[in-house]
Amino acid sequence: MEDEFCWAKRTFFPRWDRNGIWRISSKRPEGYLTNMNLCDRKSRTLYVCPGFGRNELRLLLIHEISHAVVSHSTKHGGAWQRRMLNAARRAGGIGQVRLAQAIEKEVKQYLDPLIIDAKFIYQELQDAVIDCPKADYDKVVSWLCSEYGIQKDEFDRRFRRAHIVYENAKEDVRERTEARKRFEALRREASNPNS
Ligand SMILES: [Zn+2]
Repeated sequence: MEDEFCWAKRTFFPRWDRNGIWRISSKRPEGYLTNMNLCDRKSRTLYVCPGFGRNELRLLLIHEISHAVVSHSTKHGGAWQRRMLNAARRAGGIGQVRLAQAIEKEVKQYLDPLIIDAKFIYQELQDAVIDCPKADYDKVVSWLCSEYGIQKDEFDRRFRRAHIVYENAKEDVRERTEARKRFEALRREASNPNS
């Protein structure tokens, strides 16, 4: 199970839990139903029942990690669905066709009709910047337009804050990169107390 967890992390959520804080456990915490899988953000643990086959386990891990990645919600809403569909795309890309189909099927069970409103577009925009920090504003917008079938002038009219959202996301990425560098420097110091 540990191996599958590492594989799922590496393959589908490479940006998540880079410091290896999250754990996986098949032992239920006190007071929970025994036959439930869950993502517990407080203890940073994914609880997964034992006894699943390999493909089921993979689907399940992707489902639960998709919750873990979405920091504000344990629900199966748009943010979770987007993570799942990204994972499905990635699974398809590495030839795991059945896994990709299983993920898509899972998402369909929860599918709210996709509403392409400002909130959704700005979230997508942020994700795009995080995924691809070097892409300039025009590139990100033209990707969003083609992905969701929006004309450029319609985009500019409907999503007037897009530029601000883009700049803020860039700033976020910069800050996170800096924070990670500081953290890694500290860790190096800690493991090398004599230097
Ligand atoms: Zn769930």
